[in-house]
Amino acid sequence: MKLELDGVSKRYGTATALDSVSLTVDDGEFFTLVGPSGCGKTTTLRCIAGFESPTAGTVRFDGESMDGVPPEARGVGVVFQNYALFPHMSVGENVAYGLRFVDPPGGVTRDERVAELLELVDLAGFEDRDPDSLSGGQQQRVALARALAPGPDILLLDEPMSALDARLRERLRQQVKRIQSELGVTTVYVTHDQSEALAVSDRVAVLNRGRVEQVGEPRDVYHRP
Ligand code: ADP
Ligand code: ADP
Repeated sequence: MKLELDGVSKRYGTATALDSVSLTVDDGEFFTLVGPSGCGKTTTLRCIAGFESPTAGTVRFDGESMDGVPPEARGVGVVFQNYALFPHMSVGENVAYGLRFVDPPGGVTRDERVAELLELVDLAGFEDRDPDSLSGGQQQRVALARALAPGPDILLLDEPMSALDARLRERLRQQVKRIQSELGVTTVYVTHDQSEALAVSDRVAVLNRGRVEQVGEPRDVYHRP
């Protein structure tokens, strides 16, 4: 699925969170938004997901305007920085929650889909576990499994590693990268960490004060003369 932002602006009262952001993310691309806190990364994801409506401009999926299309109808999976698993539900129930709006893809049952996804994120057999009994990295992988359960065309990851220590971050980063290329899902990844952006991205956009400052392959963005 190809993703386009065409002159997307978002204002909150007099504050401008996004100022005419135009970006194209190709089908299957791993695209990263980097920039300091407050530059508009999360707002960009929220406009793509449909949690926010742009004040101006248009978000398009494969050329089709998403104006007025609610989040659950967009075919987007989202993982936020704080795992946001439901503590009163088992791991399996948390993943199945990702299927509340759609039937499992591929003609399998819900239970089969949950098992498939847990295997994909290296948590096979964890269905009955309590989220609280899992490490931070494992919890983030459950959140990833939940986001991927309906077979989204677009995956949005908002600082999914930020609560983890360096070693776990590196492992989760490799797992996310492997899963992303295996599924070929168009991915927009948000981080303030340049080394993370370098390690995983096909292309990077640098945001500053709600504007796109640079777009390019990681080496071009970070090693310019
Ligand atoms: P980032 O994700 O890069 O840290 P955000 O997209 O969260 O940046 O925020 C961009 C700017 O918009 C910040 O100045 C933030 O305070 C402001 N902002 C974001 N959401 C809201 C909101 N709901 N109401 C008012 N201001 C907001
Ligand atoms: P991040 O740094 O990842 O953007 P924040 O803590 O800044 O996280 O924002 C978390 C949520 O609060 C986001 O949904 C953002 O849109 C919203 N938000 C951010 N700034 C403001 C603000 N000034 N007023 C209201 N909501 C805000």
